[in-house]
Amino acid sequence: MSARYRSLLIFGAPGVGKGTQGKLLGCIPGFLHLSTGDIFRSLDMNSETGRVFREYSSRGELVPDDFTIRLWREHMRKMIDAGRYNPQRQLLVLDGIPRNASQAASMIGDIEVLQILHLVAGDEDVLLKRMQRRAEQQNRHDDADEGVIRHRWDVYNRETVPVLEHYGRACCAQINAIGTPGRVLMHILEAAVPLHEKHFSNALEH
Ligand code: ADP
Repeated sequence: MSARYRSLLIFGAPGVGKGTQGKLLGCIPGFLHLSTGDIFRSLDMNSETGRVFREYSSRGELVPDDFTIRLWREHMRKMIDAGRYNPQRQLLVLDGIPRNASQAASMIGDIEVLQILHLVAGDEDVLLKRMQRRAEQQNRHDDADEGVIRHRWDVYNRETVPVLEHYGRACCAQINAIGTPGRVLMHILEAAVPLHEKHFSNALEH
């Protein structure tokens, strides 16, 4: 078995700011942010894969696991082949995967999860407003409808929260996701930077 990708998982309910924070963290040398939602949205929507994604995401459902894992593995392979990801020097920041216990089990041979950064925001109404604003700005069909948003939260609580149990609470850092993006990023960096330094001391030698 080849070495597993050393990873951080950005975790939290839809709308909590995983994408924003993941992108910010990914700007720092040594971190590579990868969002499955972004991978899916970059598909050609007229292709078979694009059609499957749209069919599920427009209902607020998860795309089937085998399909998702296959697409993710292909994407990782392409990133490595293109020299855009170096597993020896970069900590992978995964956003949106694994998203249920069965994906976590399938990925045991693919990733070594060093820590989960669990973004927590108490107030659903704040999240709802954020997501509806995002729907207008980014033309996201799954963010426009309140019913679909609420269904995604149900799916998150039912299917995704058990992923925390899979890895164990000890592996999880709770991050307060209420505040300005810079403030939330500060909390994330406090957890992520020491981890990167510990596991990637080679990346500091330039
Ligand atoms: P959010 O976290 O705000 O729901 P994402 O961009 O992470 O947004 O995901 C958008 C949609 O893409 C999800 O609702 C789901 O349909 C699909 N998706 C993303 N990641 C996965 C995954 N790991 N497994 C299955 N479906 C996924």
